[in-house]
Amino acid sequence: MSVEPMPPELFVLRDDEGPILYAPLGRLMARVNDAAADVALTYANDHRAYDAMSPEGKTVVRALSERGFFAPRAYPQHERGFRPTQVTLFPTNNCNLRCSYCYAFGGEGGGNGEPLTRMDLRCAQRAIDLIARNALERRDEGDGTHNFLVSIHGNGEPFCAFDLIQEIVWYGQDVSEQLDIPVVFNAATNGVLTEEQIDFVVANFGSINVSFDGLPAFQDANRPTAGGKGSFEAVDRTMRRLAEAGVGLGVRTTVTDAMVDAMPEIVEFVASNYPGIEQLHFEPVWECGRCKTSSNVMPTSDVFVRRYLESLRVAEERGVRLVFSGARQDVLADTFCKVSSGSFTVTPTGDVTACYEVSYASDPRSERFFFGRYDPEADRFVFDQEKLDELSELCVHNIRFCDDCFCRWHCAGDCAAKVLDGIGVDEHHGSVRCEISRALTLNQIQRKLRWKPQEEGSSTDG
Ligand code: SF4
Ligand code: SF4
Ligand code: SF4
Repeated sequence: MSVEPMPPELFVLRDDEGPILYAPLGRLMARVNDAAADVALTYANDHRAYDAMSPEGKTVVRALSERGFFAPRAYPQHERGFRPTQVTLFPTNNCNLRCSYCYAFGGEGGGNGEPLTRMDLRCAQRAIDLIARNALERRDEGDGTHNFLVSIHGNGEPFCAFDLIQEIVWYGQDVSEQLDIPVVFNAATNGVLTEEQIDFVVANFGSINVSFDGLPAFQDANRPTAGGKGSFEAVDRTMRRLAEAGVGLGVRTTVTDAMVDAMPEIVEFVASNYPGIEQLHFEPVWECGRCKTSSNVMPTSDVFVRRYLESLRVAEERGVRLVFSGARQDVLADTFCKVSSGSFTVTPTGDVTACYEVSYASDPRSERFFFGRYDPEADRFVFDQEKLDELSELCVHNIRFCDDCFCRWHCAGDCAAKVLDGIGVDEHHGSVRCEISRALTLNQIQRKLRWKPQEEGSSTDG
C-alpha cells in the first residue's frame, strides 16, 4: 500500500432511496440528500469553495470531514519486485472430464493439438525451493511472511497426476521441515476423485475448491466424464467426504444462461448437502474455449444480478458466503489478481505464466503472460525481467476506462485475460462484467448502510 497522500475520491451513487456518498479509498459511505451531495462534491473538488458556502453547507462539510470523507488516502499499489512465496503448479493438462465450457480444452491439449503432458517432478521441486527460500528470507526481514504456499491447479484435472501431486506434497513437507518454515497446500479440482485421493486431500490440504455446477442435472450435462457419462455422483461423494472431514471447502459454479434462473436453488442444494461449506462462488461463463463449440452462452447481466441477489438471501439464511469475483467492496487493490506482480504459475511444460487461463505457448496471449520457464539442463528457473516489468503495468492506475468508476479500487480493472484479450491496457473498454460488478458492489454498500446504526442521518463504514 502506498503512503503517498492523494486528494479524496468521492462518488455520488443513487438508488431508490436517493443519493449515497461513497469514498472508496476510505470505504466510507453515507446516505445524504441531493443538497448535501452537491456540497460534498463541490468541497472535494476545491476546498477553497468552503468560504462561500451557506451555514448549512459548512455544517455538512464539517460533519463529513469529521467522518474522514475528505482525508487524504493512499492509493493501493501492487507488490513490485518478483520474490514469490507462493507457486501454483499445473501437474497435468490431462483431464477425466470434458466440460462443455472449459477454457483450456482440458484433456484435449488446449484445443490446438498440444500433447497431453505431465510436469517434470524436478521442475516442481525447484519451484518449491525457490518460494521456500524467498519465504525464509522475507520472514527474516520481518515483512509479515510466515509460510510458503503451494497451490495445485491445472489446465486439466491435477489429480489425474496423483502420484506427482503426492511427490510434490511430500517434497514441500520435507523442505518445510528442513528450513523450519510452515508450508500450506491448497488445490482446485473437478471433484472426480478416488477414495485414496480424497484421503490424501483430507490428510494434507488445508482447503480445496471444487468446480461443481450445483445441481445434478447441470453437473451431468455440463461436466460429463471423458467417456460421456454424468459426473454428479462422483463429485457428490467427494464433497460429502470433504465436508464431513472439515476440510475448508469452496465451490465454484460456472453459470450459463440455461442455469441462471436456478441460482437460488443451487445455493439451497449446496448448503443442505454439504454442511460447513465455506464459500460458493458464482461466475457467469465467459464465452471462450469449448464454449465456442458448445451451446453454452453467458447469461445477460441483469438476469445474473437479479438471480444473484435472490441467491444472496438464501445464502445468508444458510450461512454460506456467496462470491462473484468482480464485486469486492471490502478489497482495496490496483489489480484484479496477482497477474501484475508476476503470479508464479508453472504449466505442465515448465513454462511460467502470470495467468491461469493462458497456459499454452500456442495461445497468442502467452506473448503477454509467459515470463519464464524451467530450464531442465540447468535445473533451475529463468525469468524474463522485461516481461515482468510489462506485466507490472497491467494495473488500474493505467486503465483510463476505469478512472470514473466507483469500483476502480475494488474490481481494479477486472480479469486481464478476459478484458485485455489482444488489446493494450490503454484500449481497455470494459465488458458486460462491469455491469455485474457495479450492481453487486452497490448492493454490498447498500447492505452495509442498512446494517449500520444511523447516526445523525448518516452512516459510515471504515
Ligand atoms: S474439469 Fe476443468 S480442466 Fe477438466 S474439462 Fe472441466 S473445466 Fe476443463
Ligand atoms: S488474469 Fe484473469 S484468468 Fe488470468 S489469473 Fe488473473 S483472474 Fe485468472
Ligand atoms: S470500469 Fe469495469 S473493469 Fe473498470 S473498475 Fe469499473 S467495473 Fe471494473
